[in-house]
Parts: sequence; C-alpha cells; structure tokens
Amino acid sequence: MNNEQNNSNPEQSIHNFDLNMICDYFSTMERQGPGSDEMTLKALSFLKPLTEESKVADIGCGTGKQTITLGKNIPSKITGIDLFQKFIDILNHNCAEQGLAHKINGIVGNMEQLPFQEEEYDLLWCEGAIYNIGYKRGLQEWHKYLKKGGYIAVTEASWFTIERPQEIDQFWMDAYPEIDTISNKVHQMEEAGYIPISTFVLPENCWMENFYELQKSARELFLEKHKGNPTAEALAANEKREYELYKKYKAYYGYVFYIGQKI
Ligand code: SAH
Repeated sequence: MNNEQNNSNPEQSIHNFDLNMICDYFSTMERQGPGSDEMTLKALSFLKPLTEESKVADIGCGTGKQTITLGKNIPSKITGIDLFQKFIDILNHNCAEQGLAHKINGIVGNMEQLPFQEEEYDLLWCEGAIYNIGYKRGLQEWHKYLKKGGYIAVTEASWFTIERPQEIDQFWMDAYPEIDTISNKVHQMEEAGYIPISTFVLPENCWMENFYELQKSARELFLEKHKGNPTAEALAANEKREYELYKKYKAYYGYVFYIGQKI
C-alpha cells in the first residue's frame, strides 16, 4: 500500500490510496462494490440447502448488504469478516436493528490470515473483495477452511471478450492485472480444487444503480468533509473516472459470480 501517491497521475488505481480514506469514502454507501440482492439470491439458488448447523463466512463483507441478505434467506450462522472496524460496526449495528444479531456476527480480520479452523465451513462467500488477496490465491488458500463438499461463491472482475480496446486494457492492467476471461477463471477454480457449479454475469444495474449512481451523493458528502485535501480529491476523481470508463467499455468487462464446490 503506497500512501505517498502521486496525485498528478490520473491513471492511478484505488489500490494506491490511503486505506482509511477509502473506508471513509465508502462507509456512507450500503454497498462497497457492484451487486444486488437478486444476484446474491441467484448465487444461493445453486447450492444444496444450508441448515441451522451449517457454518457460513462472508469474507470482505464491508458494511454487509449481502451478509444481511444471506442472513434473511438461510438458517445458518454467518460470520462477516472485514479489515475495517468501521464497516464491521455498521454491519453489527444493522444486524441488531433488524433482529439478526443471533445469526450474523461481524468481526474484524484479514482475508490473508483468516481466523478459521481447517474444514470448519460449509460455505465461503465473497462479493467484490477477493481481488484484495487475488482470485487464484484466495481460492487456493481458503480451500482448506471448507468441509469436503462445501461451497465457495465469489464475484470477480472478468473480461467478456478475448480482445478489448487498449484504453480499458491498460486501466485494468494497472488496477488488477489478474482480471481474465470467464473461461480462464473457471479453469483456475478447477485447478484450485473445486468443481465449477455455476458462473453468471452480474447485470448492469449492479454497477449503475447499485454502485456508481449511489456514489454520486457519497462523493459529494466526502468532498465536503475533506475540502481542500488533495488525496481526497484525487480519490473522488479516480472513482468518477472508473465510472466513466465503465459506461464506455461495459461491453468488455464486468463482475461475474463464480460458484464452486470443494472436491
Ligand atoms: N462485500 C462488500 C464489500 C466489497 S468492497 C460488498 O460487496 O458491498 C471490498 C471489501 O474488502 C472492503 O470492505 C474492504 O475493507 C475489504 N478488504 C480489503 N482488504 C481486505 C483484507 N485483507 N481482509 C479483509 N477484508 C479486506
């Protein structure tokens, strides 16, 4: 993580910004990545039904929009885990308000060193967050925490086409070079020891209505709070640019749900 970023470089990716600044920017939003309740439920529909005894973890849960959707739709206990205390506080507060505190427990933790036992979980969920550890590494390292026959369900940035315009290719090579085609991601899932159960593309509303359009008001709040702070202004400009690029190049990339079962 480089905190001394060069603010004059418009090509910088979000990964170079101060983590607390990113947390502040996203904490007023109900999602910190593209997604929707419908897509969370669709992914869930591919799994064998979970029971009250099943154990589920939502890794990189953020403020937990999808954790709560899971909690309302499965009988199991869910551990939501995220690096940021502020996000976990919001999740636990919302669970208490919605009567879900007995089912969902938010904890602070690092996906690179999960505080889990081997073969402890029936389901590992991760929407819009596995890129932080890297898709291949995440699938490989988390495999041991699943019971045999347990499931993993993640969303991951993917190319929809074999070729794409240079501008968007360059952006992603800088932001997350592990972005790849859907067929390659499925292959990587097999290599990591899972049977690919399903993949589907998240529709455009997961990005536009549920993510970028909600960011407009979050961005205004954030800029007001950090008036004159060049790092904050650069972060907001960076997010806006990501939105512009999505509008221009959405035919070439997006998020894909990958669901696998441990062999
Ligand atoms: N799943 C949520 C949040 C996605 S944003 C949603 O879809 O809305 C990515 C999340 O990963 C952020 O909440 C961020 O704090 C978290 N994160 C980043 N690095 C992490 C790490 N090393 N361990 C755990 N969480 C991490």
